[in-house]
Amino acid sequence: MPITLEQHNLAPTNQEVDSIANWIMVFSSPLKRKFQYQEQISNRYKQIAHNSESPIPVVIDLPNKNSSHVSFTMVRSVISSFDLLTLTRKLSAIQTSLKPKKIGLLVSGFSKKESERIAEAIISAVLAASATMPDFKSKKQTISSLTKLILFGFYARHGFKRSFAIAEGNALTRSLSMLPSNKLTPTDYLKKIKKVARENKWKVEFYTETVLKQKKAGAFLAVSQGSPKADAGIVRLRYTPKATTKTKKVFLVGKGICYDTGGTNLKPANYMFGMHEDMQGSAVALGTLLALTKLNFKYPVECWMALAMNHIGPKAYKPNDVVSASDGTTIEVVHTDAEGRMVLADTLALASKEKPSLIIDYATLTGACMYSIGTSYSGIFTNKNKWHLNLIKAGEDSGERVWPFPLDEDFDQMLKSDIADIKQCSQESGVDHILASRFLQRFIKHDVPWIHIDLSSSSKKGGLAHIPTNTTGFGVRYTVNLLLNNYLK
Ligand SMILES: [Zn+2]
Repeated sequence: MPITLEQHNLAPTNQEVDSIANWIMVFSSPLKRKFQYQEQISNRYKQIAHNSESPIPVVIDLPNKNSSHVSFTMVRSVISSFDLLTLTRKLSAIQTSLKPKKIGLLVSGFSKKESERIAEAIISAVLAASATMPDFKSKKQTISSLTKLILFGFYARHGFKRSFAIAEGNALTRSLSMLPSNKLTPTDYLKKIKKVARENKWKVEFYTETVLKQKKAGAFLAVSQGSPKADAGIVRLRYTPKATTKTKKVFLVGKGICYDTGGTNLKPANYMFGMHEDMQGSAVALGTLLALTKLNFKYPVECWMALAMNHIGPKAYKPNDVVSASDGTTIEVVHTDAEGRMVLADTLALASKEKPSLIIDYATLTGACMYSIGTSYSGIFTNKNKWHLNLIKAGEDSGERVWPFPLDEDFDQMLKSDIADIKQCSQESGVDHILASRFLQRFIKHDVPWIHIDLSSSSKKGGLAHIPTNTTGFGVRYTVNLLLNNYLK
């Protein structure tokens, strides 16, 4: 059952408060008297949070027939989008864990603009917590039975359509990423992609390994050759808006390694666990395409997903191999665990040859990026330096935060090879996230404007911002806001 939203500009009447058993409320402080129980709520907050500088979630059961269970907070001053989303995640967890059919939402005491921002955050958090995620327990878990959100204190004509579309895209990204690799081989993945494509009227093309051989995509094939089954390939999805101007075209590209053992340079146990999520970049590209489609995005969008496994085995590629990418660049293999940049090299070369107006690629690419900025930010790279500030701003505003790294030419010295045009990576460097990006940039043809997101925040224990699961699906919300709010001019 889809979740619907009902909106009321005013605060709820006494009767309305009593009739709903589950509530999420956000007030400004001090509380302006507007409905009953305000005093109890105020006193409760004073008791619990009197020493707290920043807003904290508080719970109260109202003395009515329903014992209405309220999670609420008081926001005293301006709060960042990230902090707001984190707060609404906590407020909504208190309610969604009880599996209610409907939840009342109240935002009170703020300016119109602030009320909208807060309502948006609550709605996003509740939708994120109510999405169904993969579950293979023999005893079925109760899934969310939420069908209705009733918002009081703010009315928006847009009906928060963007939040619903992003939530759907993000849920698709997370649910695919959580699937274990025996349930999501490239074959399974392609089947699921085709189903979503049918539902959304996207054109589907699949470059099989045979096609990729014809295209001389030796970097991609170096990785896929280690698989016992030749089911790897590049998926190309096309969304065309109804009234297309065709002036601009956006390409979303993603790394889709369904399992990363590290290959011949096998990963140790601690680093291998969780590597079924090494396809999350491709799922972010797909989830973003889904959200943009739901929002009738006005420009054509293509989604290019590089699907493969990075296996060990007698046919797997090895360090010191020299392979040749589809654009003719020869690559000296250094470490088989740097497979992401190999499959992306050919995918980006083929995609950029089509001369789109913008390419954004997503990849769980390097450990170095995680060491550099941790797991609550993702690293961002671009061949348009002038975009740096706006890329940061889009992250601050959306609550999915990114930070740019440099991409100067002199980094290439660390990728100099004695035997080929370029080394795949460097054994000495501590800046692998930058070298990986320099490596990828080489395959962007025709100077196509390009943004690369190294998804260091794809997984975060306990969730991130409004997302309650360890798998975050980071990037869908960021990109939709980046494109729809015109940060790139
Ligand atoms: Zn790897």
